[in-house]
Amino acid sequence: MAEVKMVDLKKRKFIRSGMFTAAALPVTALSAGHEKRTLGNLSGESLPPEFTIKNGRVVDNPDVRLGFARCWGCYDNCSVRVRIDKQSGEVQRVSGNPFCPNNRYRPESLSTSVEEALVKLTEQDSLDNRATTCGRGTAAGDAVNSKQRVTQVLKRVGKRGERRWKSIPYEQALREIIQGGDLFGEGKVEGLAAIHQPDKLANPQDPLFGPASKQLLISYNSEVQVRTSLLRRFAGQFRASIGKKSAYCGAQQRIGIKRVFKSAIFGGAAHAHPDIDFEAGNDGCKFGLYIGTSPSNSGNSLNTLGAQLAQARTEYGYDYVCVDPILRNATTHATGGEWLPILPGRDTPFLFGLMRHIFENRRYNKKHLENTTDAAARQDGELHHTNASYLVVQNVGHPLQNQFLREGDGEPMVMVDGQLKPVTVAPHGELFVDQEITYRNEKLHLISSLELMRQEVYKTPMSEYAAVTGIPEQKIRDIANRFTSHGRKAAVMLSTASNSADGTITGWATAMLNLLIGSHNAKGGACYWHGPVSGLKGPYILNSVEGGYGKADQGVSLNREGKYEQSQEYHAKLKQGLTPYPAQDPWPQTAPVQNTAEMLTSHINRRPYSLKAFISWRANVLYGASGLPSEVFDAFKDPHGEHGIPLIIAIADQISTTAEYADYIIPDFVHMEELAIDRHWGSERKGISASGHLLEPKTDKNQAGQHICMEQFLIDVAKTLKLKGFGAKAIRKEDGAYVDLHSEHQWGAYMLANCAANIGDDLPRATARDLELSGAKYGMRNLYPHIDASEAKLVERLLSRGGYFDQSPRYDGEFQSGKPRLCLNVYNEGLTKAINCYSGQPLKGYPTYAPNAFWNGDLWEEHWPKPDYPVLMSSYKSTLRSPWSVSYDRTVEFSPTNFVYMHQQTGRELGLKDGDTVTVRSAINRPATGILKLVDDIVPGAISIATGFGHSAYGANDLWIDGQKQAGDPRRGAGISVNPIIPTDPTRNGPAPLVDVHTYCTCRHGVPVKVEKA
Ligand code: SF4
Repeated sequence: MAEVKMVDLKKRKFIRSGMFTAAALPVTALSAGHEKRTLGNLSGESLPPEFTIKNGRVVDNPDVRLGFARCWGCYDNCSVRVRIDKQSGEVQRVSGNPFCPNNRYRPESLSTSVEEALVKLTEQDSLDNRATTCGRGTAAGDAVNSKQRVTQVLKRVGKRGERRWKSIPYEQALREIIQGGDLFGEGKVEGLAAIHQPDKLANPQDPLFGPASKQLLISYNSEVQVRTSLLRRFAGQFRASIGKKSAYCGAQQRIGIKRVFKSAIFGGAAHAHPDIDFEAGNDGCKFGLYIGTSPSNSGNSLNTLGAQLAQARTEYGYDYVCVDPILRNATTHATGGEWLPILPGRDTPFLFGLMRHIFENRRYNKKHLENTTDAAARQDGELHHTNASYLVVQNVGHPLQNQFLREGDGEPMVMVDGQLKPVTVAPHGELFVDQEITYRNEKLHLISSLELMRQEVYKTPMSEYAAVTGIPEQKIRDIANRFTSHGRKAAVMLSTASNSADGTITGWATAMLNLLIGSHNAKGGACYWHGPVSGLKGPYILNSVEGGYGKADQGVSLNREGKYEQSQEYHAKLKQGLTPYPAQDPWPQTAPVQNTAEMLTSHINRRPYSLKAFISWRANVLYGASGLPSEVFDAFKDPHGEHGIPLIIAIADQISTTAEYADYIIPDFVHMEELAIDRHWGSERKGISASGHLLEPKTDKNQAGQHICMEQFLIDVAKTLKLKGFGAKAIRKEDGAYVDLHSEHQWGAYMLANCAANIGDDLPRATARDLELSGAKYGMRNLYPHIDASEAKLVERLLSRGGYFDQSPRYDGEFQSGKPRLCLNVYNEGLTKAINCYSGQPLKGYPTYAPNAFWNGDLWEEHWPKPDYPVLMSSYKSTLRSPWSVSYDRTVEFSPTNFVYMHQQTGRELGLKDGDTVTVRSAINRPATGILKLVDDIVPGAISIATGFGHSAYGANDLWIDGQKQAGDPRRGAGISVNPIIPTDPTRNGPAPLVDVHTYCTCRHGVPVKVEKA
C-alpha cells in the first residue's frame, strides 16, 4: 500500500495560533520554531518578529524567509507579503504588500527600496504606511497544508461519488487516461488518444460545430494568466471544448455595461466603480449608487475600497446608497451611507424609474450628450462624445431599418433647427427627435437615439416601477435627484447580486445612467477596472502555435456561441418551408463567454453532440453554477447511465463537488507554489500581482523529477499525442530562435519574461537586497535556466516589488488619463445586426424593460404563481468567503455558517420563528435546509442567503485513499448552499438552467420560492 501523505496537524495547530496573534500585532511577526518561542506580556504566544529595525535598517531574522506572492483567496489577486519558516518551508503569516494598490490606500512608490518600505511599515505614529489584506487573504496560507489536500495521483475505486480512490504512479495515470481501456472493471472507456479526432466532425450533420475532439470538455479557471494560457494552448491544439465560469458569475451585467462603449454584437465586458481614489481627494465622487452590493464588499477589492470609502465619507462628504434586498456591511449606522431595500430581481425597473425622473425633469447632461463628434467634444473640453442625437431609421423593411441615417455611406445625420445635417458640420445635434421627413425622395420615420431611450422608459408609469421594486415613487425620485445633483461626480455600479432574467439590461441601464450625466471616465465619475499586462506576447511567441490550429479551426462551441442563421437547423427548417424561429436552443451570440453550465446542458440533451470526457481544472461547476438540471449531476454520477460522461479527470488541490466524481485526480499547486502575473479585480489603478515559486510544491514528483501539476500533465499528454506547440523546439522567439516546452518551469519562465519585457523601463530597479527581501531570487530559482540573463534581470525587477503597479498621474484635467476618446452609445447600432433566435426579431439597440420571463417569453408568474411561491430569493457574496476558501481552516473559524435571512413580518405571515430549521424550495423541488434568522434589515417578502456555504465536498465529508479514511470536517459543510435551489427553465427544449433571456447567461436572483419549517 502506498504511503498516505497527511498534514502535520500538530504543527499546523501551533502555527495557526501564532498567526492569529500576529494578525493583531502586524509589526511583530512570528517564527515557527517552538524552541524559539518567547512569551511576552503583550504578545502572548507570539514568536520573534520576522525582522527588527536597528538604526533605520532591517535586521533579518535568520530563521525566516520573506517574499511577495499573489493571493488566491478570491479573484481580486492582491499582492501579499508572506513570512516563511526557512527550515520547514511553511507559511507562518500573510500580510499586505505595501507596493500594491489593493493593500494600501496610498501605495508605496515603486522607486522605494523594499528595505525602506519594510522599515516604514513599523512606524508607529501613522496608519498610512500599513499594508493589509482582508481576513480571507490572511487565512489563505492555510491552503498549503489544508486537510484533505491532494498531493498524490489518485484513481477511483468503487462507484463515482463514493469518494474512494487509490494512489497510483503519475506515469500509470498518464498512460491509462491517454490509452483508455477497461479502466475500472466497468467496461471499455475511450482514452484521450481515441477522443482526439481532429479530422472527424463533432456533429456529422453540422460542420459548424467543428471537430470530434470537442467531445472532450475542459472546464477551467480563467483568472490565472500564466497557467490558464498553457491550458488554453493545449485545448486549442487538441481542439477540445473549453468552458469557464463567467456566464454563471455575472458576465451578463458586464456585457451590458460595455454596450455603451462599443457598438457590436459582442463588444466585451466592463465593470464600473465610483471614483473615490485618494488622488481625486475632494474632487472625487460625491454620490455613489451601489446596486446589489455595498462598497468594500467581496468581489471588489475590499482592502482598497474599504479604505477609500472611509476616507471619502469622512473627509470628502461622500454620499452613497446601497440598493439591495439585504443590509450588508458598510452601510451601518453612522457611516453616512444609506440602505434602500428592494425586492430581489427588480433592479432594472428601479434603474428605469431613475431614468424616467431624469427625463421628466431634464436632469441629464445636455452639453455632453449633444456633442456629435470627437472634434465637438474637444471643443467643449469633453473626453467622449455620444450618439444621443443620431437619427435611427424606423421604416419597417427599409434597408436601413434600425440603423443610423447616414449621408451616403458616410457620416451619421442629426437634426439641427429642423434640418438634417451630417455630424461633420453639426457639432451639436437635437436630442429628442421623432418625425417623418423626406430625404432623397424617400419618406423616412426618424427617431433620435435618446428619444428612443426616453420612449422606452416612458412606456411604464412611475407607479409601476415603484410597485414592482417595493420602493416608493417619491424615494425613486429622491435618489434620482441626488444622483444628478453633482454634475458628473456621481456613478452607479452593480455586482453579481443583481443577476436576474434581465441582468444584461440591469448592467446596461447602469451604464446608461452614467452616460446620461456624463460620468464615464470622469474624475470623480464612473471608472473601470484595468486589463492585464500580457505574458503571451513579447520575446517568446506564445499566443500562437507555428503550424498548429488557430481560433478559426475550432468551430462553434458546444453551447452554440455563434450565429443561428448559419446552422443546419436553420437551413433545414427553411428548406422544409418552416419558419426557422424559434431555434431549439439558445445561441448566445451576444455573450460568447464559454458557459460551462450550458455546455453540460447541451451534453445531456445531445444537441449538438454529447461528451466523452471532462477535465476540470480549478473550476467547480457543479457547486458554482445555479439551477443545473438534475440530469447534469446524473451525468457525473454514473458513467454508464443515460447521460453518463465516460471519463472524468480533475486537476485539483482539493476535492471539490465536481472533483468528487473524478475517475482520476491529478494533484495541483496552491497559490504560493505557482507562478502568477495577474491583474486586480476592483482596482482601477493599472497593475499586476506577480509571483515566483515562493514555496516548494507539496505535490508528488513524476519519474522525471518534476512536481506534478496541471501544466506538467497537459504537456505530457500533448507530447504523447504529438500535438503541435509542445516538446522540443516548440516555441519560436521573436529573434527567430526556438525553445523547448517540456515543463511548467519553462512555460512560466517564458510568460514572466514576456510580461516583464512588456513593462520594460517602467519596472523598478532591483538591488541584491531588494531581491532577497522580496523573495524574488528564491522565487526564480526554477526560471533562470530557461531564459536569457537580460530577460531574467527584467523578471527580477518585476518580482522585486511583487508585481508592477502603474503610478503615473491618474487624471488629465477633469478626466482619467490614458482613456481612449470614444463615441458613447445611447443607441448600439452594431447590436441590432443580431437576431433573437427565439423571436426572429432584430435585437434592440437600447435597454428595454419587461418583467422577468422565460426563454419562450412566458412570465415567471405564469408558471410559478405567488400563492405557491410567496417569497423572492436573493443571495450575496460573503465578505470573508469565496467558494473555495472553505478549505482554509481559519475561514471556517471566523465565518462558521450562513443563515436564511427573512424579515420579521414575513416570518410572522408564514408562521415561522427565528431559529427554525427551514426548507427553501423552488419549482425544481430540490429543497435545501438552513437555519432561519428573522431580522429587520431585509426587505419584506424576500429571503437572502450568503454564498460559499453548504459544501458537501472540499473536506466536508470523509474520503478514503488506499483504504485509509481521511476524516471530513463537518465545519466545512456548515450552512446552506444557494445554487441547487435555483430552478430550471420549464420552457426550454429539454432540461436546462434558468437564464437571462438577453444573453443566456445564468440567472440567480428574484426567483420565487416557498419557505417551510423542516
Ligand atoms: S481581497 Fe481576495 S485576493 Fe485580496 S487579500 Fe483578500 S482574499 Fe486575497
